[in-house]
Amino acid sequence: MSSFKYEEIGGFTFKGVEFSQDSFNVIAGPCTIENYQDLKEIALQLQSMGINLFRGGAYKMRTSPYSFQGLGKKGLEYIKKVSLETGMISVSEIVSKEDLPLMQDYVDILQVGTRNMYNFRLLSALGEVKNPILLKRGMSSTIEEWLLAAEHIIQAGNPRVILCERGIRTFENYTRNTLDISAVCAVKQLSKLPIIVDPSHSSGRREMIKSLSWAAVAAGANGLMIETHFCPDETVCDSRQTVTLELLREILKPIDQLRSAWK
Ligand code: PEP
Ligand code: MN
Repeated sequence: MSSFKYEEIGGFTFKGVEFSQDSFNVIAGPCTIENYQDLKEIALQLQSMGINLFRGGAYKMRTSPYSFQGLGKKGLEYIKKVSLETGMISVSEIVSKEDLPLMQDYVDILQVGTRNMYNFRLLSALGEVKNPILLKRGMSSTIEEWLLAAEHIIQAGNPRVILCERGIRTFENYTRNTLDISAVCAVKQLSKLPIIVDPSHSSGRREMIKSLSWAAVAAGANGLMIETHFCPDETVCDSRQTVTLELLREILKPIDQLRSAWK
């Protein structure tokens, strides 16, 4: 792999929070924003656990056109309101370049979903904003393709990129995707960009989130993104993989120990 130009780029501070290959950040929250009250309640609970980044999709890229597509602009208004009221950093997915003028003001960290990793026009547009970008790995992309996708953003002017391994498509269908833990190790060799792991979309199974999270931390991940809700079974989207706040608390307990073992 010799196709990279920005191997030395990586790491930044945003709103007082460090994102680098030395830091560790947890992003939690629902798959999708359903209403203001629930989002605020979840954010406050997360904050009481010491988590300062929360997530929630306003625009969803659903496989089926008959599934809930997200609240759209209303969702953006809710996430901004909760972010202002709590002081927490918000993370939400941008699905289309045309939403950028709006989203850059409503959301702190813009997420590029797995289905858009190859949307190079979107990636270049994200090079022109100040928001950090959470770049998910394409479900069928190689590590090289993923790092080059990051370089599209960097080349266009935005070095604040966070990578997120979220599982890849394999022949296995017991899990929703296959979590590629080795990608964490590979990224650390090839790049200086912070890399976090999303065990939720990797597995699609709530009972696996704890073990996969610990495995990711043991491999050197710089953070986790975990779909969390106070009542997972009642969520409209990705219930099966969403964990309770109690389970999230349990998952986070040994993180410091695992991180020091890795170091
Ligand atoms: C998400 O994080 O809400 C999401 C849709 O993830 P992915 O793009 O990895 O499927
Ligand atoms: Mn989801």
